Amino acid sequence: MTVIDEVLEANEIYARTHELRPLTPRPARKLAILTCMDTRLSIRTMGLKTGDAHIIRNAGGIVTDDSLRSLLVSHYLLETQEFMVINHTDCGLMHATEQELRTRIQNRAGTAAVAPAFFYAFQNIEENVQHQLQKLRTHPWIPREVAVRGFVYDVVSGRLREIKAF
Ligand SMILES: [Zn+2]
Repeated sequence: MTVIDEVLEANEIYARTHELRPLTPRPARKLAILTCMDTRLSIRTMGLKTGDAHIIRNAGGIVTDDSLRSLLVSHYLLETQEFMVINHTDCGLMHATEQELRTRIQNRAGTAAVAPAFFYAFQNIEENVQHQLQKLRTHPWIPREVAVRGFVYDVVSGRLREIKAF
């Protein structure tokens, strides 16, 4: 049995009660979080439940064209009022440069290919968070009244640390 088969089996059991059915598409706490796809990040560490917030995830927790699109939909269509950007210690994108990632993947795949324009590798986590904040705060479609705050999640201590903008 593959993991996907196991997931389907678990879903069959979940659907018998489906306790999340009453939720609406609007986040109950009007919060959107942009963060990394890392397995160690969880809404549990922030006292949040399913239905409380939008969780937008990609490798690194990076403001890209697509995560920006999601944040705009979150605010304009689904009424979120606060944005959190969360990067984390020991992120996979901190362990290699842009070029090393490109070369590594190409060597493993054994072929050149149309690659993503950027992997958004970074070395300094504080600067990386600040850079994401800057991209959001300077965007003309993100209104001033939307709170935009940045954080580093420490995977060892389990704590969030706020990073001030430039
Ligand atoms: Zn990460």
